[in-house]
Amino acid sequence: MALLQAVTGMNDVLPAEAGRWRSLEARFFETAARYGFREVRTPLCEYTELFSRGVGEGTDIVEKEMYVFDDRGGRALALRPEGTASAVRCALEHAALEREPVVRWAYAGAMFRAEKPARGRFRQFHQVGAEVYGDASPAADAEVLDLLVAFLRSLGLGAFELRVNSLGQRGSRQRYRDALVAHFSAVAQELSPESRERLGRNPLRILDSKDPRDQTPKLTAPSVLDHLDDEDRAHFARVRAYLDALGTPYRVDPTLVRGLDYYTRTVFEVVDTSGSLGAQDALGGGGRYDNLFTELGGDGVSVPAVGFALGVERLLLAQPVKDPPAPFRVAVVAAARETDQAVLASALSLARELREAGLETHLDTRFVSMKSQLRRADDLGARAVLIVGRSELEAGTVAVKDMAAHAQTVVPRGAVAAHLRALSGSQE
Ligand code: AMP
Repeated sequence: MALLQAVTGMNDVLPAEAGRWRSLEARFFETAARYGFREVRTPLCEYTELFSRGVGEGTDIVEKEMYVFDDRGGRALALRPEGTASAVRCALEHAALEREPVVRWAYAGAMFRAEKPARGRFRQFHQVGAEVYGDASPAADAEVLDLLVAFLRSLGLGAFELRVNSLGQRGSRQRYRDALVAHFSAVAQELSPESRERLGRNPLRILDSKDPRDQTPKLTAPSVLDHLDDEDRAHFARVRAYLDALGTPYRVDPTLVRGLDYYTRTVFEVVDTSGSLGAQDALGGGGRYDNLFTELGGDGVSVPAVGFALGVERLLLAQPVKDPPAPFRVAVVAAARETDQAVLASALSLARELREAGLETHLDTRFVSMKSQLRRADDLGARAVLIVGRSELEAGTVAVKDMAAHAQTVVPRGAVAAHLRALSGSQE
């Protein structure tokens, strides 16, 4: 029988790596909490319509990359390809803005896109993200960016570039769209077939194209920044002024459009510049999406919003790996044969006491030889080995081997935890 494998593009995280995942997520929520963001958890799966309405029908994500299926009642469901639409759905469904004037939410979790797997690109990947609802001010954009940068720095990442741009609101965007169509239509023969097709539906996406044929026409394309109306221009100027005031380095990139339809005004992307990620160098991105609540909640609903998402796998690839400090480990060794159940029972309860005292405690429950238990304790890097045998059981003692000092002492059973606390204090 062939060995079953994980689904292509979906990865296992083995225990040796899982600690880095856990601490990255913990760091994210700690940093986000300092900026007033609280965690929200939404389902992995939503009605497909949420994404077709929210993310946009003409986007690659909705058109080509979503995992969609019908549930048993015949309703179309999709594994979430991103977190923003779900969080907005959740805020609307639970009337979050009736409880507080401004909502600041943070999330972490798996996302699914049927992309061609590559280094840093998977079909199940993970994001951490943050969203602000109910605040239209450019200072909210700056705060969101400040959280993003603070988090990256807290991970020890230094080599990244923040790129910012503004797409304006509907009026500016429409004018820019018309200008792009005029520009690219004149050179349509030189464009890649994909970009020619985008010309009619979503001309902004041509600016995202990596196809070599599109690069020359892109060079002379009009800049969105020349098509912003006064309010959009003022908003963007303010965002930049706040970033300057915060001392956050950034580069204005007028070709940055991002792949989703819902963005208005500020958009941004953060790119790894260390070279460690190869072609998939985007660590994350986001922007303002002032129309998404209306799109999902109906005409009567209008809530300004801004947020970002970062790819966890890419952050882990880019993060300098430090060996975590070894915890103080204890191994309890039951020196007993199978017939001596009382010794193992005593070892079990000793191990439980030490775990209750907060110590990482290992116990081999298979009645293997003492020699192999000691070898395993050594492999685990145990700092103390506690031996419980028939004579210790009868004397109410435990033999404690200090593996660092190569010394063995006999300690009364009731004093073991205090003895280990003293030893672990001397390790720090
Ligand atoms: P997006 O909203 O598509 O820009 O995604 C935000 C971030 O999520 C990206 O910058 C990547 O770090 C990460 N990401 C997106 N798609 C994938 C994928 N297929 N595999 C791994 N990470 C991804």
